[in-house]
Amino acid sequence: MIDTFDLIVKLTAAFGPSGQETEISRVISDLARPYADEISSDTLGNLIVHRKGSGPKLMFATHMDSIGLVVTYFEEDGTLRFGKLGGISPKEIINAPIRFSNGVMGAVKVHGKADEDKLSLDDLYLDIGAGSRGEAQSMVRLGDTAVYATVSMRAGNRIISPYLDNRVSCAVLLKALERLKKTEYDLYVVFTVQEELGLRGAKTAAYGIDPDFAIAVDVTGAYDYPGAPKAGSAVLGGGAAIKVMDSSVICHSAMVEKMSDLARQQSIKAQQDVLTRGGTDAGAIHQSRLGVVTGGISIPCRHSHTPTSIADLSDVESCIKLVTAFTENK
Ligand SMILES: [Zn+2]
Repeated sequence: MIDTFDLIVKLTAAFGPSGQETEISRVISDLARPYADEISSDTLGNLIVHRKGSGPKLMFATHMDSIGLVVTYFEEDGTLRFGKLGGISPKEIINAPIRFSNGVMGAVKVHGKADEDKLSLDDLYLDIGAGSRGEAQSMVRLGDTAVYATVSMRAGNRIISPYLDNRVSCAVLLKALERLKKTEYDLYVVFTVQEELGLRGAKTAAYGIDPDFAIAVDVTGAYDYPGAPKAGSAVLGGGAAIKVMDSSVICHSAMVEKMSDLARQQSIKAQQDVLTRGGTDAGAIHQSRLGVVTGGISIPCRHSHTPTSIADLSDVESCIKLVTAFTENK
């Protein structure tokens, strides 16, 4: 497989807003094939990579969908009104370049009379270069979705990219699959859909697989930049973040302890992830059926859901090592 940075670049470039995961699913499926006994997808579109083992069942879940913008109305002048798929802050997307799956490009702009301190999505519009409603309607359809068209860049040992949430975690699990020598677990690596809309794919995947243990791999907020709110403990460069809690889950103490022990024994740089907002697929999985013993491994990420999120490649490497270590040590 290509190196980690190039892999993240490739994954972040694939189209895949919530509910439209066909392209990203195909890219991941091609990359995972050499390391899988079986690859399937379920009704909602979750991509399930199965590596057979004697058991118990271990399920990793990482969402492959991204946030996005959805066309809701065509103005007479050819501009578009839009809604959001997932959490988007209006002020953070002004001037962002965007693209639709059919290649139509555009930019997010703000209405000249808007009060910039109280912005809502109603104050924003998309300019796709159309001069009239008819022309715009010939380019995109109502309900079409767009994603940020910013590109991934390397900045020292960091990566700046539009969709580290959550393609960086997809890269972590693909790399772990590549490195994994042997496992006794009956291993399911699930690339889930529609996480950004409320953990929808993880819910059905967990029900279907019925795992004994589960680990959600996702980004976590790193609030270590100027003026950041005190909303979480993780910092860039602090290593793999072992999830203790977020607003969707209190992780099972046995999982937190096992991961912390493994990190210590194998000298994997790690930190605790205590987050007072946000959620991950762990939130849905641990409540599946009669409950699942669930933990989380998080990649610290600044400015998630903006066109330029930032992560540290050494943290990514620590997360790959921790996933691999956990899977190889029953
Ligand atoms: Zn996420």
